[in-house]
Amino acid sequence: MRFSAFSLARNALRSLDTWTPHWRDAAPKPAYDVVVVGGGGHGLATAYYLAREFGVANVAVLEKGWIGGGNVGRNTTIVRSNYMLPGNVPFYELSMKLWERLEQDINYNAMVSQRGVLNLYHSDAQRDAYARRGNAMRLHGVDAELLDREGVRRLAPFLDFDNARFPVQGGLLQRRGGTVRHDAVAWGYARAADARGVDIVQNCEVTGFLREGDAVVGVETTRGPIRAGKVGLAAAGHSSRVAALAGLRLPIESHVLQAFVSEGLKPLIDGVVTFGAGHFYVSQSDKGGLVFGGDIDGYNSYAQRGNLPVIEDVMECGMALWPGLGRLRLLRHWGGVMDMSMDGSPIIDATPLEGLYLNAGWCYGGFKATPASGLCFAHLIARDAPHPAAAAYRLDRFASGRVIDEKGQGAQPNLH
Ligand SMILES: Cc1cc2nc3c(=O)[nH]c(=O)nc-3n(C[C@H](O)[C@H](O)[C@H](O)COP(=O)(O)OP(=O)(O)OC[C@H]3O[C@@H](n4cnc5c(N)ncnc54)[C@H](O)[C@@H]3O)c2cc1C
Repeated sequence: MRFSAFSLARNALRSLDTWTPHWRDAAPKPAYDVVVVGGGGHGLATAYYLAREFGVANVAVLEKGWIGGGNVGRNTTIVRSNYMLPGNVPFYELSMKLWERLEQDINYNAMVSQRGVLNLYHSDAQRDAYARRGNAMRLHGVDAELLDREGVRRLAPFLDFDNARFPVQGGLLQRRGGTVRHDAVAWGYARAADARGVDIVQNCEVTGFLREGDAVVGVETTRGPIRAGKVGLAAAGHSSRVAALAGLRLPIESHVLQAFVSEGLKPLIDGVVTFGAGHFYVSQSDKGGLVFGGDIDGYNSYAQRGNLPVIEDVMECGMALWPGLGRLRLLRHWGGVMDMSMDGSPIIDATPLEGLYLNAGWCYGGFKATPASGLCFAHLIARDAPHPAAAAYRLDRFASGRVIDEKGQGAQPNLH
């Protein structure tokens, strides 16, 4: 079914059984041109762009659980392109442009909401760093505005401006940043890929790789072997484990990131606000709940739940920025497992094994990358050449030293 005002009205007037499934729950075929491992946002977007942009439609996306059960459905939905380094800005701006036309492209309401992302600064040095980042963004044609204290107060009067320890001095605003309904991204890409012939195979875990010498020619799965001309890994927080099945050791650790949603409130906060003096960020969902989060858990884990010290840290940061938060009741809280790469930037590259391609290391910013990641990974798989916007995301940069360390904080996962 194609969605339009007319089709919505027509179906609304009929009984609910006129709505058809959004995608087929496909059974795996014995062979495909391309198998994508991981039915998260990145894997589904890759399949969609393979079919749409490169005419490769004999594709399967293999997902060990249900699509949307991983990070694509667990994140805090923030999208932005406020990066500084040359390797990053063009890629994230490409993603921003793809978000801006996504709903028309895939004919699906993903609730793309460009409500603004505001990073607060609390010291002169931080202001200078944000001014530098804003200038770098503008040089790349990305929107950026440096606000003073009064500019921030007009946007977010509820913040604690008189906090002597962390005074709000101003902020860097990207008005085109905002939020997107995360699980609708998975459903929308799945539906659009399915419509172009892609098989989305759920409850199908990849447990090994079919090899002919140094070439990967398919995958072993819990639903039997599946041969493939090419295999793309897009397993997000489990990249290291899946790559290890092929004998590859990645420069990645897996950590848990937690998220929180409060009870519903009347409209209070317009955009996304991030605390520059600690790790805390907050926005308000369309249902009214405040959505917030902070730092990753400090140790490696594959548990999709978090620990208490980080919960305390997030709440302390939140209260320091916005004391009124203390009067709210928490509705839900969860965790997601994330790849943390050693320079904080992603990897989109071929691997040393012929036929095996890698999309990994998205750290805690991978949701915003979903459309560009899918397009660039599809380009790499289809053409055997990196997309120009993702040319810096090579695997060998960790050996050559050409790392992309956006925050300049060194090779430690918990610093990114
Ligand atoms: C709490 C939280 C908040 C976040 N907030 C933001 C944010 O606001 N903005 C932002 O840009 N990013 C954010 N992120 C990061 C972002 O969500 C991730 O970087 C991104 O979603 C990862 O890509 P994905 O959607 O493909 O991952 P996933 O949805 O996790 O997809 C990977 C899939 O691979 C599957 N898989 C794993 N192993 C196998 C196997 N062996 N066989 C088959 N399938 C397998 C998994 O089941 C999973 O469904 C956040 C993450 C978390 C956890």
